[in-house]
Amino acid sequence: MVREIFAEALLPPPKETISEWADKYRVLPSKGSAEPGRWRTSKTPYLKEIMDVMSPMDETKEVVFMKATQIGGTEVGNNVIFYYMDYYPSPMLQILHTEGIAKNHMKDKLIPSIKAMDRLNKKVTWAKSNQGGTTRTEIQFKGASLKLGWAQTPSTFASMSRRIVICDDIDRWKDDVGSEGNPVALAKRRANAFRNKKIFINSSPTQKGDSLIEEEFNETDQRHYYVPCPQCGEYVRFEKEDFVYEYDEERGELTSDVKFCCPKCGSLIDESQKMGMLQKGKWIPHNPKSSKKGYRLPAFYSPWFTWQEAFGEYVKALKKEKEGKPEFMKTWVNTIEALPYENRLEVTELSIEIDDLLQRREKYPAEVPDGVLVLTAGVDTQDNRFEIEVVGWGEGLESWSIEYAIIPGDPANKETQEALDLFLKKRFAYEGGGEIGIYAVCVDTQGHKTQSMYEFCKKRFLKKIFAIKGSNKQDTPITTGRFSLSNKGKVPLFHIGVNAAKDEIYSALEVDTPGTLYCHFPNRETYDEEYFKQLLAEKRINGVWKKRGRKRNEAIDCRVYARAALAIAGVDVDELAKRDKILKFSKKETKKRRLLSKGIG
Ligand SMILES: [Zn+2]
Repeated sequence: MVREIFAEALLPPPKETISEWADKYRVLPSKGSAEPGRWRTSKTPYLKEIMDVMSPMDETKEVVFMKATQIGGTEVGNNVIFYYMDYYPSPMLQILHTEGIAKNHMKDKLIPSIKAMDRLNKKVTWAKSNQGGTTRTEIQFKGASLKLGWAQTPSTFASMSRRIVICDDIDRWKDDVGSEGNPVALAKRRANAFRNKKIFINSSPTQKGDSLIEEEFNETDQRHYYVPCPQCGEYVRFEKEDFVYEYDEERGELTSDVKFCCPKCGSLIDESQKMGMLQKGKWIPHNPKSSKKGYRLPAFYSPWFTWQEAFGEYVKALKKEKEGKPEFMKTWVNTIEALPYENRLEVTELSIEIDDLLQRREKYPAEVPDGVLVLTAGVDTQDNRFEIEVVGWGEGLESWSIEYAIIPGDPANKETQEALDLFLKKRFAYEGGGEIGIYAVCVDTQGHKTQSMYEFCKKRFLKKIFAIKGSNKQDTPITTGRFSLSNKGKVPLFHIGVNAAKDEIYSALEVDTPGTLYCHFPNRETYDEEYFKQLLAEKRINGVWKKRGRKRNEAIDCRVYARAALAIAGVDVDELAKRDKILKFSKKETKKRRLLSKGIG
């Protein structure tokens, strides 16, 4: 076995830990370092333990670091890489966010650092060409290598087996583009074949409840850095609540020095004492039951970033927040405090009620009124039925609900699928004369019927019947326009932003006069109280739409899928409306107007 060979070949293990190695040999290159020259662990003593648990003599297999910026955190991963290159040549993998970031990391950080350390430089096999490393993604040394991968393209690392895996900046990794499942889990599996594996995961956090590093950190023993108070000697930690300062609220500026107030004795501590306190610091776990080690460090500990700067930015962010711009506070909380950001405005309830929508129903002059330029449909797949809504779209995304249907039966059965197929080929009578078919359809493929729905959609892809998978992430757009083929059967699969679609649909439902965004509902029996209950079944919590309790919500799902079909098909209704008008006035031929009337037939 590969792992045995490595283990045998390298006995006895080096006695030095990573921090000791770094103090002896690590040189920071002039490019891209806050302080070029010899590395000194005493400058950032909080990094010592984090590096040392990554050393081979420590049992720890997985280390999580939820960190602020400005604290030197990225050098931990670099020191780990160089240490193993020097003492313990092992197959290593470092995964960064994008290909560009990975290649710059190689060019600006790894290669200049290696060249600055003669003992490492001699161990690396430099290829004759491409010494500058502008496109290099691998470094060979003494029979092993370091490979770089990037999370945006999981295929860059998906098939590798590596003893050391370093995952950088994981909160910027997206799990909704071209990949199946959580990319961090996929990365961790790269080390599964090694008993002596070492995994290092680090990032600043992002949104609470939607942060990969927060999720990882919560599973660890959750260590925080405690330092002794110079007055009472008690161990305390630097947290936002214990800093004191005065500021001008209107200008968003500090008007005094920032001091730390010891939560044990109340003494005010000046920043000049910070470095001395750091030297005597220690990490204390808050969740000692866990065998995974996790560290969280805010920027208040940084030797390069002062309390004055940190709280100067804080009071500025407070001012911006009051002006309705919470992004500054979010950035501060994530990158200075090293905490996930929780929206203060938590729950948004809809102002529209079921009765309002029931009252709003109207008698259409035909199955499809004149304002409709194109029809789409959304199909929700349940275990024992399909639910479908056909929606007409007009200028300014004004919409008309046309038909809501339920097709009973097992979606995996041929008969049920044929009934759906027949329904989607249906043509509807148009107010201006003629007929209009459904132009594009989204079919939900998640749940228990995934494979059969994949097959159903694959055959009909050219008829714009799209297989979709919903993503509930707050910042996923309705569609990126791209599909992925990385699934069983290589079915074009669109990942749609359910939350973004709901944001739009729910604000549209609150529009109360016909025109832009307004939603029309027909006076038909399928648009009954139950339908509107399902349509309004959700509320927005911390930016994400969620069901209230265990209510049914197929109606809103169908509407989301119909909206996504319009987006995936790339229909610009406003553009269509312009062309429509030109044709209307020049030719006065109603039938030719309907550019998208052919449907999927
Ligand atoms: Zn004290």
